[in-house]
Amino acid sequence: MITNVKEQPRQGMLENVMRQFNHAADIIELNSNIRKILSITNNELIIHFPVKMDNGEIEVFTGYRVQHNNALGPYKGGLRYHPTVDIETAKALAMWMTWKTSLAGLPYGGAKGGLKIDPSKYSTSELERITRRFTYALGDNIGPEHDIPAPDVNTNAQTMAWILDTYMSTKPPTERSKNQHVVTGKPIGTGGSEGRDRATGYGVFLNIKFWAERKKISLADKRFILQGFGNVGYWAAYFLENEGAKLVGVQDAFGSITNKNGIKVAALAAYMEQNNGSILNFPEASALDKDHFFELDCDICIPAALGNQITADNAGKIKAFLIAEGANGPTDVEGEEILLNRGIGVLPDILCNCGGVMASYYEWLQNRNGEYWQLEDVMTRLDKKMKEVFDKVYDKGQERQGDMRTAAFMIAIERLEKAYLQRGIFP
Ligand code: GLU
Repeated sequence: MITNVKEQPRQGMLENVMRQFNHAADIIELNSNIRKILSITNNELIIHFPVKMDNGEIEVFTGYRVQHNNALGPYKGGLRYHPTVDIETAKALAMWMTWKTSLAGLPYGGAKGGLKIDPSKYSTSELERITRRFTYALGDNIGPEHDIPAPDVNTNAQTMAWILDTYMSTKPPTERSKNQHVVTGKPIGTGGSEGRDRATGYGVFLNIKFWAERKKISLADKRFILQGFGNVGYWAAYFLENEGAKLVGVQDAFGSITNKNGIKVAALAAYMEQNNGSILNFPEASALDKDHFFELDCDICIPAALGNQITADNAGKIKAFLIAEGANGPTDVEGEEILLNRGIGVLPDILCNCGGVMASYYEWLQNRNGEYWQLEDVMTRLDKKMKEVFDKVYDKGQERQGDMRTAAFMIAIERLEKAYLQRGIFP
C-alpha cells in the first residue's frame, strides 16, 4: 500500500535538514570541527541488482543505504520503498535518524535507505524476491551490531522477516541465531517485539497528549486531520479517538476525504482492507480536492506520510493550532516559519515520531538478551521514556522562548558533541 501523496520538489529535504542542523548548531556554538563531521554522511551505498519478475523478464532495481553517523552506537533507521527514494533523500533521512536517536538517548547512530520503486506495481512474490536480493546485495553493510534496518514507508514486519531470513541464510549455521537483531520491526514469532507495530503512532499520540496537558487543553472533542493512513497514521488516530478526539479528514496516495461529524478509525481501516488499501469512496465521508486538504477546519494536523508537505504554499491556510509530525521532514523551513509566526505549535518529527525507534531498541535488547517482554511492559517503558524526552524538549523550548524543533536539535547535537570531545578523533 502506498501511504502517500506527491512529494513537493520545491526545496530538497537535504537542504531542510541541514538548515535545521546549522540553525541549532549556531545557537549552541557547536565546535567547528564537530560541525564538519556531522555535516557529512559517513557512507553512501547505491546498488543495482537484477530480479526475475513473475512473467520471466529480468528487471534491474536500485537500492540505497546511507549511514550518516555512528558516534553513539550502530547505525539505525528504516528502509522505504517509494518512487521518491534517491541518494539525496536517503542522506537527509539518515541525518534525521542521527538526531532522533541522539535526542531519544538511545545507543544508536543514524541511517536510512530503501528502493526507488512503487510497490503497488509488484506481486507479493516479486516483492519477496526483490527484498531478498536487495538484502543479499547489502551483505555485511548491515549487521546486528553495525547497521540495523527497520520498517519505514511501504515496508512492514513481513519485509523485515524476509530480510532477517535472507541475512541469516548467508551465515554459517552456528552463527545464525545470534543475528536475529539485524533488523527490528519483525513479526512477533520471528523475534519481533510486542508493541512495535503501534509504537510510532502511540508516540505521536503521547506527544500530543503531553503538549495538551502543558497547555491545559482537553483532547476530548478536538478535531484532527491526518495525512497518510499507513502504520503511523492509523495508530495515532486510533489512540486519539480513544481519548475522545474526532478524525475529520484523511488524505492518502489516492485522494482526500472529509466528514466534519467524524470518521470512525476502525471503519475506515476495515474499508481500506476491502478497497485495495485506498480510502477513496469511503461511504461515510465526502471527497475533497487534494490541494485543499490542509485548509480543512480542525484543531490538530498530523502529517504522517512523506516529506515537504507543509510549505510556504499552504502553511498560511492551516486552521489547526498544533502540527504533530508523524512523518520525517513533513514541514519545510519556510513552512515552519509561517506556522510559528502564526502561533501554531509544531511537535517536531525527531521528537514526535521517535516512539518507533525507541520500541525498535526494546526489540533489539530482547533479541540480544534472549528475553520476551509483555505488551504492558513495552508500553509502560515507552510511556516513561517518551515523557522524559518530551519534557526535556518542551522545557528547553520554554527556557529559550523558542520553538521545539530548535530545542530538540540542540539537545541532540549537544549529546553528540560531548561524545566526540570525550573520545577525540583517530588517529
Ligand atoms: N523508520 C522509522 C523512523 O523513521 C523507524 C526506524 C527504526 O526503528 O529503526 O524512525
